[in-house]
Amino acid sequence: MVTAPADVRRARRLAETVPDPELPMLTLADLGVLRAVEVTGEGTVRASLTPTYSGCPALAEMRAMVAARLRAAGFARVEVRTVLDPPWTTDWITPEGRRKLAEHGIAPPGPAPRPAPGPVPLVLSGTRRAVPCPRCGAADTEETSRFGATSCKALWRCRVCREPFEHVKEI
Ligand SMILES: [Zn+2]
Repeated sequence: MVTAPADVRRARRLAETVPDPELPMLTLADLGVLRAVEVTGEGTVRASLTPTYSGCPALAEMRAMVAARLRAAGFARVEVRTVLDPPWTTDWITPEGRRKLAEHGIAPPGPAPRPAPGPVPLVLSGTRRAVPCPRCGAADTEETSRFGATSCKALWRCRVCREPFEHVKEI
């Protein structure tokens, strides 16, 4: 039986360390993708994941990796479910996750755009924020392509050190 609190903690640690397929320097915990790990009354370990960007093709891979890691550690009954509400936001990326992105030369996201209050679902995204260069820290940067190697990243360039870099877009 897998009901002891120690087992739940072990299961959580295992699931937390699964790397993200698109940003492999980050774990699912760093990204805020892993929402919960719990044990059901029947002794099933249930992990809940919220996918990052909509239609994220990495979701199936993440689910399979979490399930495989838990089964390999001896948890016989494993369920990985997807939680879509509330939707994932880059605000859930932990400080540790942001530090790791910057360390890898990727500019972390700024605050996510917030839906405006009121009946009209406007999204306040008009104000463009400066994205500091993750290499030299200069604020004089420009976006060169809205879509990088993966849909979650845009391509930017620093006008000071002239290096291109990737930026995780705010959602
Ligand atoms: Zn620079």
